[in-house]
Amino acid sequence: MKILYSNDELKTCIRRLGAEIGKDYRGKDLLVIGLLKGCVVFMSHLLVEIEGVEAEIDFMTISSYKHGTRSEDFKFVQDLDSEVKGRDVLIMEDIIDTGRTLAFTQAHLRNLGANSVATAVLVYKKSNLEVPIEEPKYVGFSYEDKEFIVGFGFDYGGKYRNLSNVYQLEEKDYKIYLSA
Ligand code: 5GP
Repeated sequence: MKILYSNDELKTCIRRLGAEIGKDYRGKDLLVIGLLKGCVVFMSHLLVEIEGVEAEIDFMTISSYKHGTRSEDFKFVQDLDSEVKGRDVLIMEDIIDTGRTLAFTQAHLRNLGANSVATAVLVYKKSNLEVPIEEPKYVGFSYEDKEFIVGFGFDYGGKYRNLSNVYQLEEKDYKIYLSA
C-alpha cells in the first residue's frame, strides 16, 4: 500500500471544509446526515471543525446490490429518525464514485421536503460519474487515479477503516488479502 493522503493532509483539508461549512450555515437549522459506514471517520473529524452552528446529526445506511464493484439497486438498511421537512440538510459521504449512492440519497432527501440539500465529500472520483448528481459543494480531494483507496474510513472487504492515512491499494495488497 502506498500513502495517498497523510493524516496531516487529511486534517488540514477537513479544517478548510469545516471553516467553509461554518461560514455558510451560521444561523441556519443544519441537519448533518452521514452515510454509514464510510462516513464515520470523515464525519467525526469534520463535525468538530464546524464552528458557530448548532448542528444536529443523523445517519442513514443504504445497501446496494453490487454487480462487480458497482452499486446498482438500493435499499434502506437504516433510515433517518429526524424530521427533514424544511431543514437545511448536509450529506456527509466518504467518496463519490459512480454517483449512484449520492443521486439516490439526494432524491430521497428532496422528496422528504428538505429546504436545501448540500453534500460534503472527502474524495470525489469525478471522472467515474455514471449518473447525474447535484454537485457536491464541499470537496476534500479530487481523485483521478484508478487504484482503490483504503484507510481513514475507507474499507476493503470491511477492513482497513481504522488506518490513519488514506492509502492506494497495489496489486500485491489484493494478493495478500485474498490469500489471508
Ligand atoms: P457510488 O455509489 O458513488 O458508485 O459509490 C460509492 C461507494 O463505492 C462508496 O461508499 C464506497 O463504498 C465505494 N467505493 C468506490 N470507490 C472506492 C474506493 O476507491 N475505495 C473504497 N474503499 N470504496 C470505494
